[in-house]
Amino acid sequence: MILYSTNKKAPKVNLAEALIQGQAPDKGLYMPETVPTLSPLDFEQLHGQPYPAIAAHILGKYCRGTFSPDLVRALSDDAYNFDVPLEPVFENRYVMRLDQGPTASFKDFAARMMARMFGALHRDSDQQLIILTATSGDTGSAVANAFYKIPNVQVLVLFPIEEVSERQRKQMTTLGHNISTAALNGKFDHCQALVKKAFADPTLKHIHLTSANSINIGRLLPQSVYYIYAYSQLAKNNEPVIFSIPSGNFGNMMGALLAKKMGLPVKKIIVATNENDEVPVYFKTHIYKKIEPSRVCISNAMNVGHPSNLARVIDLYGGHIDENGTIHSQPDMEKMKQDIRAIGITDDQTRKTIREAWNTHRLLLEPHGAVGWAGLEQYCRESPDPHTPKISVETAHPAKFPDEIEKLLYFTPQVPKSMDGLDQKEESYQKLDHDYSLLHEFIIKRYEQ
Ligand SMILES: *Cc1c(COP(=O)(O)O)cnc(C)c1O
Repeated sequence: MILYSTNKKAPKVNLAEALIQGQAPDKGLYMPETVPTLSPLDFEQLHGQPYPAIAAHILGKYCRGTFSPDLVRALSDDAYNFDVPLEPVFENRYVMRLDQGPTASFKDFAARMMARMFGALHRDSDQQLIILTATSGDTGSAVANAFYKIPNVQVLVLFPIEEVSERQRKQMTTLGHNISTAALNGKFDHCQALVKKAFADPTLKHIHLTSANSINIGRLLPQSVYYIYAYSQLAKNNEPVIFSIPSGNFGNMMGALLAKKMGLPVKKIIVATNENDEVPVYFKTHIYKKIEPSRVCISNAMNVGHPSNLARVIDLYGGHIDENGTIHSQPDMEKMKQDIRAIGITDDQTRKTIREAWNTHRLLLEPHGAVGWAGLEQYCRESPDPHTPKISVETAHPAKFPDEIEKLLYFTPQVPKSMDGLDQKEESYQKLDHDYSLLHEFIIKRYEQ
């Protein structure tokens, strides 16, 4: 597989290079030059198969020439040792719960596969690789957990102290070993800006920093798999389905878009954002304006005022937006809007949805999944289509956000086994002011060999 940068100014690379580099040197994002396709025979073979088999089948197509099919199968079996429940709600509507992994968010799916791929690429290297990652909550814990004790890999996670929940924080600050964490007194956008600055800093070149944020193609490919899995369990005879995806940095929806591009029969991808609605506004007005600073909403992992992966979405429809959010050529807006419906959901609507879903259907949602469900409900009111299977994605476990659930539903969500004992574990993290020179110093001190 050959990958190019969305900014088209960097050399093309293979999968191993794209994984290790994260972002392209021209600050664009890597995209596969050709997307492998799924034939009717593929779908026949995949129907009803267990998750790891489907993951191996799909990822194997992207990994040709980099990892052998047997290795991809072994990595998939090892990474996906948990359930992927598809919960029927009513009238052909389902919730796919991607919260059964070790850190209880959908980010486990990508982080666990990526860590194993990095491990396979780097096992025999004498050089250590530093994964530097900014998190609004769940990436940090998923990446920390996935890379914990992987040889030759160090992880540094930057998180905004005020914006992550206590359990989200504890999932990353209680590991130790090769995992370090720094709490920034700023917002997620500041964390992301500092991380980007470090990647571009020539004085850190010798440290071999790389990214595990969804700018890394290694995050996207595994996020195609669960859409294909859902289809293989619920749909047949080439009948199309609808997905609704709560979105922040647009990595998860990019997984769905790639799956569609591979040939998955998808009628519509509903992209639901919180009040950071720069993309729904762009779809309406064709004018893109990032939201700075991003708005603080209860779906905190989606408080993104300028989603990195928009560059990939626009590229897929023939346009070009650079890393700063300037559009150099518009994509095919009509085609894009035919495939994708972008909807912004307010915090008030999110809370109302959590209450109504529970009271009406005994459907337990946390704030992110509620944004997705609210987006699906709005879409169904506008375009009723009772026969098409509709799958709304729940991206985190309700027990990660107990305060909001208690306030709205008057009970405490049960903690999944993976989070047992977490509240009592001891934390360790560095506090950092939002100042690049402090991060620079911290990186040099800790990782210069
Ligand atoms: C990261 C995250 C999202 C947003 O996913 P993107 O790929 O950034 O759009 C949604 N929900 C939860 C719980 C998350 O952790």
